[in-house]
Amino acid sequence: MHSIKSVNTSQDSIIIDFNVDISKSDIKFFELKPSPLYRDVFDIKGYFKDALATKLSIQGEEQITIGQFQPDVLRIVISGQNNPDTSYSLSKRQLIIDVKSKTVKKEDTKVQQSNQVVTQQVAIKEDNNFIDTINAIRLIESNSNTINVKFNKKITQKDIKYTNIKQSGNFEYIFDITGQYKFANPIKLSLDNIDKVITTQNKNSVRIRFINKNSAQIKYNLINNELIIETTSTKSTSNPTQQTINQVQNTTPKNVKNKVIVIDAGHGGDDVGAVGPNKRYEKIVNLEVTKYLENILKQRGYKVYLTRTTDKFIKVMDRTVLANEKNADLFISVHTNSITKEKANTTSGIETFFLSPARSERAKRVAALENKSDIREMNESSKNVFLESLNRPRITASHKFAIDVQAGLLQAARTKYKDVKDSGVREGPFWVLVGAQMPSILVELGYISHPEESRRLYEKEYQQLLANGIANGIDSYFLKNP
Ligand SMILES: [Zn+2]
Repeated sequence: MHSIKSVNTSQDSIIIDFNVDISKSDIKFFELKPSPLYRDVFDIKGYFKDALATKLSIQGEEQITIGQFQPDVLRIVISGQNNPDTSYSLSKRQLIIDVKSKTVKKEDTKVQQSNQVVTQQVAIKEDNNFIDTINAIRLIESNSNTINVKFNKKITQKDIKYTNIKQSGNFEYIFDITGQYKFANPIKLSLDNIDKVITTQNKNSVRIRFINKNSAQIKYNLINNELIIETTSTKSTSNPTQQTINQVQNTTPKNVKNKVIVIDAGHGGDDVGAVGPNKRYEKIVNLEVTKYLENILKQRGYKVYLTRTTDKFIKVMDRTVLANEKNADLFISVHTNSITKEKANTTSGIETFFLSPARSERAKRVAALENKSDIREMNESSKNVFLESLNRPRITASHKFAIDVQAGLLQAARTKYKDVKDSGVREGPFWVLVGAQMPSILVELGYISHPEESRRLYEKEYQQLLANGIANGIDSYFLKNP
C-alpha cells in the first residue's frame, strides 16, 4: 500500500504524487457506460488523507471526483456527457492522468507529455499553468515569523480583510481571505512568537487567526500573488535555533519513524462491550476503527501494534503489557459509550479520557462500564497503589494527548455530521490505562446506545473518518511534543 502525497489539477490533467515508487500494477483503469454520465475510473493503490469525496475541476465539462474508495484504494472518477478521453502516464513517484476535453480545443498536449519527467516537481511548484478553480488558495505555510499564503488566481487588497480584537484575555489578529483552501479545516500553524495560529475554511473565505497573550505587531504585504504576513510579539519567547518550516500540506511530523503507537480495540470475544439498538456491538466498532487507524498511521510512517486484530477476549491488565514491551510512545484504547435506556435517545457525543486518580461522577459512571470486564482482577488496595503511582508529568502528557485526539476526532466527524456533540476531555480511573507507562488515553467514539449515532458508528465511511481524526490528533501531539 502506498501513501499518496498530493493530488493536484492543472489545465487538463490530474497529477498524483506518491511518497514511494509505484508501478503499473498499482493502477486499475476501467470505463463505465452512461448512467446517466460516462465515467472513466482509476483505482489507485494507496491512501490519501485529504481524499474524502473531494471534487476537482479542470478545463472542460468533465467532472472529477476523488475519494478513498477503500482504506487502500484511492478512486478517481472522471465523468462527462461525452465519453471522457483519458490517458495516463507513470513515472516513479508520479501519476499523471490527462483528460482530453471534448469541449475545449487544445494544441499542446504532446508538449506536456514529453515534459512530464522533467516537470515532475515543477508541476506543483510552478504557478504558471496551475489552475485550480475550486481552491483559489494553493498553499499556506509558516516560517519562523511569517505566514505565506499562495494563490492560484490573481488577488487584490479587496480579497483580504484584516481585523483585530481582544477576547478572553487574548489579542486576536484575524485575516479573512477570499477563496477556498482544501487543507484549511482547521489547521494549526506554528510561529515562533505567536501562541496560536489557526486556519479555518468559511463559506467563501479562509480565516487565519493569530492568537497571542501579549499584543503583537502584524504586518502584511501582497507581493506577486502571494500574501506575506509578518509577526513580531512584544514579548518574544522565540528560540532562534528552532527555525522550523511547517508546510500545511504535510502535518505529519518528520520523525514519526521512531514513534511507536499501540492501539487497543476495547473488549472482544465474550466481552462484547456495550450493545446498541439492532444488536450493534461496541466490540465490532472498536475493532473496525482500530484497523483503519492502524492503516492510516502506518501510511504516515508510524510503527503500530494492536492488542487484538480479531474478535477475541483479552484481559484488561494484558492490554498494556504489549505497549510496555514495545516501548510505545503512546497508548490509545478505542471504545464506544452507552447509557441507560431512558437517556439513550438524548445522549450522544465523542469524549476522550485520560488516566488520573480523579473520580468525578461522570468519570466514575463511564469507568464502571469500561472496567466491568475484569474489575475483579484487582482488589481495592492494589487499585489505589496503581493510582498513587501515577506521576504528574505522565498525567499532563496524557491530558495533552487527549486534547489533541479529541480535537482531531471532532473535526473529522463533523466533516460528515455537523451535529456531532463534543462531550469533552475528561479524566478518570480506567484500569486499561493503569498499566501503561506512556501517555495513554481512552476514546469514546460515540454512544452506541443512541439510535442515530450507533447507525453512524456502523458506517464504514464514518469509521474511516474517526480513524483519520485520531491519526490527525496523534500527528498534532507529536508536532507539539516531538
Ligand atoms: Zn468500552
